Amino acid sequence: MDETDPAGPPDSADPAFPARQAARCADLAELDARVVRCRACPRLVAWREQVAAQPRAAFRDWEYWARPVPGFGPPDAALAVVGLAPAAHGGNRTGRMFTGDASGDFLFAALHAVGLASQPTATHRGDGLELYGVRVTAPVHCAPPDNKPTPAERRTCRPWLAAELEFLAPSLRTVVALGAVGWQAALPVLGDAGWPLPRPRPAFGHGAELTLPATGRRRQLHVLGSYHPSQRNTFTGRLTFDMLVDLLTRAARSAGLGSGD
Ligand code: SF4
Repeated sequence: MDETDPAGPPDSADPAFPARQAARCADLAELDARVVRCRACPRLVAWREQVAAQPRAAFRDWEYWARPVPGFGPPDAALAVVGLAPAAHGGNRTGRMFTGDASGDFLFAALHAVGLASQPTATHRGDGLELYGVRVTAPVHCAPPDNKPTPAERRTCRPWLAAELEFLAPSLRTVVALGAVGWQAALPVLGDAGWPLPRPRPAFGHGAELTLPATGRRRQLHVLGSYHPSQRNTFTGRLTFDMLVDLLTRAARSAGLGSGD
């Protein structure tokens, strides 16, 4: 383990920490355990802790997670849903992706409607929610100010998701990227994880789809774009519940998950 390394414990604030640590992980559980120790992005570390120190009134009694949020779902998932980053008072509070905010309420209700989640609600890490064949994750694991990570922060965090996708590769058949920014962030990571990307990269759209060819231990991969279930999109009707259910049904079918049939 790193702690017994003669060179001393790893510096979790080093920008190279994600790449070094992700490369040492034996499995997804170890990756999840290591990512939560990461402090490689000083601006995001400061923000996640500042938010925790000034909780919303409704969450006054919470002890915020205030750390990187690992992916959630089984290690042999056939479908990955990739957002952008945890929300300051959502995942950064509860410690689980999409848990505790309006976007997550919408997403998990839709996953449940498609038969991919054990319950329609997600409120905290001990709420009993299970995902079936689906892993929910993000290319940036810490909550950013204004939900906007910088390009440098996205690059620094990329090795964590690339390694996660590498561990999922033997079972992974479909990725749903949420929002244009999620799409732009996910595609390079899929390239890092070993799938050949087309050039030029296809544009994002709700329902946009591309197929990446099988290579090595990686299966052929379907990538689907979906509008992000942000409040801005759901309140305005740009993304309705039926639209998301339809898209997830299509994704489940392409991933070979029975619920999509
Ligand atoms: S965003 Fe990613 S790389 Fe940056 S501190 Fe959080 S986990 Fe580490």
